[in-house]
Amino acid sequence: MHPFSYTRVSDTREALKAGRAGGRYIAGGTTLVDLMRETVERPEALVDISGLPLREVTVTERGGLRIGALVRMAEAAAHPKVRTLYPVISQALELSASAQLRNMATIGGNIMQRTRCTYFRDVTAACNKREPGSGCAAREGFNRMHAILGTSDACVATHPSDVAVAFAALEATVHLLGAEGVRTLPFADFLLRPGTTPNREQALRKGELITAVEIPALPRPLKSGYLKVRDRQSYEFALTSAAVALHVRRGVIQEAKVAAGGVGTVPWKLPAVERHLVGERPSESLWTSAAAKAADGARPLQHNGFKVELLKRTVARQLRIVGGTK
Ligand code: SF4
Repeated sequence: MHPFSYTRVSDTREALKAGRAGGRYIAGGTTLVDLMRETVERPEALVDISGLPLREVTVTERGGLRIGALVRMAEAAAHPKVRTLYPVISQALELSASAQLRNMATIGGNIMQRTRCTYFRDVTAACNKREPGSGCAAREGFNRMHAILGTSDACVATHPSDVAVAFAALEATVHLLGAEGVRTLPFADFLLRPGTTPNREQALRKGELITAVEIPALPRPLKSGYLKVRDRQSYEFALTSAAVALHVRRGVIQEAKVAAGGVGTVPWKLPAVERHLVGERPSESLWTSAAAKAADGARPLQHNGFKVELLKRTVARQLRIVGGTK
């Protein structure tokens, strides 16, 4: 591990000052410390923000939900408001990582976590994300776990977060604090597709701090849930996943929010599936025909062609679980 300095800050002003000077924020440390041990990350200065007052879950005036950036994954998953208003968030969190990691890792850290592409973590392999311009060992390597959507010639790595898929489906916003003050970003604009610069993963300005993720109020009743398909039943990343929220009134779908995980370079919102659902009555054939659009635009690699069909089946199954059939 490379030498680094460590500072623990107690207020946001102090944090921003250290962040602007080039310090890397750390809270739970469940991703960053691993990467530092493997020398994938070599920060010169760590700024411990775990003491900042960003650990609350609150219901907004409009009936949405604001989750502080330092709320632990386990706390968010167990919070009564999260469980009742947006079960999709609780389920996505509970299906992530291990209990020990969920007790440490924060919501802000979760959406900042880096890919699990094995070549990214192997410092002897070519990786444009780790070392811009060095190439992409995964393209011609073993790419069974890699993305089929949103890829570029430079990078085909998936985003690993489960809860980010729920946030993408629900059209959350990310609250930020930086030198220029407060700003909010739609979740869809926060995480960046790789393009020609896969090393740039979030639309953050230098020293900017995530303060919260806000879920907008959605019409009620709202049913929601998260399905994760993986090689083993715990402590494993998604092959495919689906976050679904449906508002059904008088037997007709009024609103549909759907996103997929394990398949995209970022959590993959599925607007074509959503449009197909709205205005229709729940039925077995509707779930199948909507899910058929889930893999539109997919570009499978040598070893992950199976994800195209698996994605459609995952989305259809989760639509059925959440929406039921008559
Ligand atoms: Fe690196 Fe992305 Fe290629 Fe993986 S897929 S080796 S992260 S450039």
